Amino acid sequence: MTQLAEQADETSASLPTVGHWIGGHPVAGRSGRQGPVFDPATGRQAKWVDFASVDEVDAVVAAAKAAYPAWRATSLSKRTDILFKIRNLVDQHRKDIAALITAEHGKVPSDALGEVARGLENLEFACGVPHLLKGGYSEGVSTGVDVYQIRQPLGVVAGVTPFNFPAMVPMWMFANALACGNAFILKPSEKDPSASLFIAELLREAGVPDGVFSVIQGDKVAVDAILQHPGIEAVSFVGSTPIARYIYETGTRNGKRVQALGGAKNHMLVLPDADVAMAADAAVSAAYGSSGERCMAIATVVAVGSVGDPLVKAIEDRLPKINVGPGSDPSAEMGPLVTLQHRDKVASYLDSAAEQGATVVTDGREHPLYRKGDGYFLGVCLIDNVRPEMDAYRDEIFGPVLTVVRAESYEEALGLINDNPYGNGTAIFTRDGGAARQFQYDVNVGMVGVNVPIPVPVAYYSFGGWKASLFGDLHMYGPEGIQFYTRSKVITARWPDPGTSKIDLGFPRTR
Ligand code: NAD
Repeated sequence: MTQLAEQADETSASLPTVGHWIGGHPVAGRSGRQGPVFDPATGRQAKWVDFASVDEVDAVVAAAKAAYPAWRATSLSKRTDILFKIRNLVDQHRKDIAALITAEHGKVPSDALGEVARGLENLEFACGVPHLLKGGYSEGVSTGVDVYQIRQPLGVVAGVTPFNFPAMVPMWMFANALACGNAFILKPSEKDPSASLFIAELLREAGVPDGVFSVIQGDKVAVDAILQHPGIEAVSFVGSTPIARYIYETGTRNGKRVQALGGAKNHMLVLPDADVAMAADAAVSAAYGSSGERCMAIATVVAVGSVGDPLVKAIEDRLPKINVGPGSDPSAEMGPLVTLQHRDKVASYLDSAAEQGATVVTDGREHPLYRKGDGYFLGVCLIDNVRPEMDAYRDEIFGPVLTVVRAESYEEALGLINDNPYGNGTAIFTRDGGAARQFQYDVNVGMVGVNVPIPVPVAYYSFGGWKASLFGDLHMYGPEGIQFYTRSKVITARWPDPGTSKIDLGFPRTR
């Protein structure tokens, strides 16, 4: 196979550069540091992206701080009006955003459009912010005394996002953050930075005041500057578990509120009574959609008892029909992986699984696009008879590799899922309502599907895993997103006749 040059070469000097968005305008980076942005379907460098320095992070925080008081004071009805406009502009530009995603991430257009659609749901939820920010009021808690609770924005907040959803995950964050009256700074993935700048333009067009929404491009330098900046009150993060843990520990040590969503290893438990064809369709869709680069992808099927053989056969039979290709091919259902390095790491699990005793049923390296060597393609991979101690089971592979573990019983399958360090999503496939109900009770995972392989909650619930899939107390978007981006304040008030006023050093009492 031809080795692809993933490093930038001299001819790349003339390529366009993706910069920052500060104070309501595009701003070119000044640090002198940049990273290459590739087209994963060709393996060629397409752009550069600027990497911010600490000074540039200071500048973006200063712009956000300056914009925050007026945004906070903007009435709920005016903010809602702007949110509706953002929603409509994103809706009108679905295809433009999806095209940027396909160009830099590699996912096929239908998948990229799906990402934008799920992001839009978060904007729609945020349009209901006047209702969501309603507090509580108790009249007459004591004679002439009322108590009420209000929710206020935090100030300047930041979001650090992963490569696999360059539009949706930012929308998970900024929709509610802005709706609640915060100023928001986005640090997108350096692998696919362009969608964020396009969205910034839409926000400006919708009437978001300059400085209320900013984009700072970069790497660890920018993220560390965000984590240490005293002007930033809270950080939302989505990415891999080691970095999520680091963000949570560093951010909270610096006094910030942090929600840090990490990696995943999602299991699909199939009971012997399940409809095999339906379970196979679901496993294939959930394992290979977006080339397996989804935090809610099914990574492992746990086949209980007699369902194992027919299920693996049904999955295997479906694989030749999956059309792998570049986003420019309208018939393609699965695109390339994001980088060459990632593609090769994913492929390495085929060798280690075979060496450790698993059965490689379908090897994606036999796909013609992998053999041709243009772009970071890998065909779909299926590995059976995987055991919990194998690397292919233990690691988050994040590629088009479905592993199958055989279990003797429901209890063994459940134990496997509950012992796994990750707890993002899981699903059970069965026709037995009682078994499904027991599973939802027993399983230590944050998002559970019953005959639904990718149970991503709708925008009016919240998204988040358990265990090593989330560090922090609040899940993302939905009602918990509103909680995350606001602080509650409780007011106790009385309006007595000054003539009745007297000194009382006793403990404040209500009766
Ligand atoms: P990543 O952790 O490598 O990067 C995420 C972000 O952190 C990027 O913006 C990156 O620039 C920054 N970053 C990377 N290394 C850093 C460091 N050392 N210090 C500070 N910042 C750093 O993740 P990724 O590869 O972009 O995304 C894939 C991962 O994200 C997978 O593990 C996937 O499961 C996870 N993910 C989780 C969810 C979820 O909701 N739980 C959703 C999507 C993706």
